Amino acid sequence: MLTDLQKEILKLKDEKNAIILAHNYQPKEIQEIADFLGDSLELCIKATEITDKDLVVFCGVDFMAETAFILNPKKKIVIPDKEAECPMAHMLTPEQIKEAKKRHPDAAVVLYVNSLASAKAEADILCTSSNALKVVESLKEDKILFGPDNNLARFVANQTDKEIIPIPEGGHCYVHKMFHEGDIIFKKEEHPDAEIIVHPECNEEVQKLADYVLSTGGMINQVKNSKSKEFIIGTEIDLITRINREIPEKKSYPLLNDAICKTMKLHTLEKVKNSLETEEYRIFVDEEIAKKSLSAVKKMIEVSK
Ligand code: SF4
Repeated sequence: MLTDLQKEILKLKDEKNAIILAHNYQPKEIQEIADFLGDSLELCIKATEITDKDLVVFCGVDFMAETAFILNPKKKIVIPDKEAECPMAHMLTPEQIKEAKKRHPDAAVVLYVNSLASAKAEADILCTSSNALKVVESLKEDKILFGPDNNLARFVANQTDKEIIPIPEGGHCYVHKMFHEGDIIFKKEEHPDAEIIVHPECNEEVQKLADYVLSTGGMINQVKNSKSKEFIIGTEIDLITRINREIPEKKSYPLLNDAICKTMKLHTLEKVKNSLETEEYRIFVDEEIAKKSLSAVKKMIEVSK
């Protein structure tokens, strides 16, 4: 049952010929009014398909909205709260990439989509947590500079013969770093029959205790398709909100209740309404940077098909 505010937003959305895209980590009330809900790769692909809308309200963090702009430079893309930044994306600067390239001139640069447009402009190709291995394997180079998430870099390195060099040292997502081995042992005691699924941004020792290491999109598919009835999921809590809404016949539990991405939660229904009314806050990316990043984004989408 939608609230009055949610109904007002949906009415406004139609009047403005707008579309609301939301990341899987958005709170339930935003998930309920989104036209499309997905992980970063799904949102990127969706952004390439928006042809008939005048306004895109992007409920996610800065790098995601920038990617939507890079793919649709003529569209009005707005973000409900302009402070919604991904701290991990801000850990890697274009200067750090240029320095790493000087040290390893024979390496290709693969960047996680969770990076800023200015960093993406220095990449050969992007990847997400769902296609990182496939992207790395698609390249002719045997040496890969990979950033900014060191855990995802290690996850890929463990599955390929290529040399993976993580950049920058210590790049991480503070939400996925919260999980420890003890959390899995504790939760498993509460739900002994549950499958354990964690994200590749988690620490290696946590990944080792899991049954599956998957992207958020992969987690949803695993819960849908598995014979198990219960799941312990190590990622941001609102992905579990989505899973329990969409697959109510199974039970999914967050590995930690306080695994919350604070900047993702800056968006609220009031702010979404404001975005639709005022078209604040527009996302822009410098033309030259957008052009250079577009090639890396398109290559990733091509490899993912
Ligand atoms: S969950 Fe981590 S990687 Fe995702 S937006 Fe939040 S800080 Fe960034």
